[in-house]
Amino acid sequence: MKKETHPKYSVVTVKCANCDSEFTVGTTSADGFLVSICSQCHPAYTGKNTIIDSTNRVSRFLERQQKSQSLQKVKSK
Ligand SMILES: [Zn+2]
Repeated sequence: MKKETHPKYSVVTVKCANCDSEFTVGTTSADGFLVSICSQCHPAYTGKNTIIDSTNRVSRFLERQQKSQSLQKVKSK
């Protein structure tokens, strides 16, 4: 192997932001990093349908829906 052309290879810890599980991977990056979804919580692996609401779009929609429903109740009375 030619010297000083290959990046340093290290094993780092990766943390999942969705389910807080941790695992290690081999990488040329020096630091560990955060992933938004992993094999522990991805629907393709779990078989369950999950909603990843990282930008609060789902909760904002549910809030608007509740508000709309309560207004409709007031109108119908
Ligand atoms: Zn996960």
